[in-house]
Amino acid sequence: MLRLRLNPESPAFTAVDVHETFLEESLITPNPERARELMNAFGISLDELLDLAVTHELGHAICHGGSEFQAELVGSRLREGLHPGCAEKQPVSHE
Ligand SMILES: [Zn+2]
Repeated sequence: MLRLRLNPESPAFTAVDVHETFLEESLITPNPERARELMNAFGISLDELLDLAVTHELGHAICHGGSEFQAELVGSRLREGLHPGCAEKQPVSHE
């Protein structure tokens, strides 16, 4: 994951080029120690974290990679029950 410049603490990632999303086993079959680590790191329950991870990674898939901002925007719309596209761009910084 470091070689791919991904956060090794993240429980999920999408390899857009090969059309695959990887979810850490602990999201689906939790072991108590890792579940506690993940819930502490993200501040939400494991069920909520699974929803967050799947919708965020779907955001990357829908945006063909996209930025973290775009993936999270699409993910949040999916969690709201909407059917987002990937048209929205990251706000332009004026700094
Ligand atoms: Zn992401």
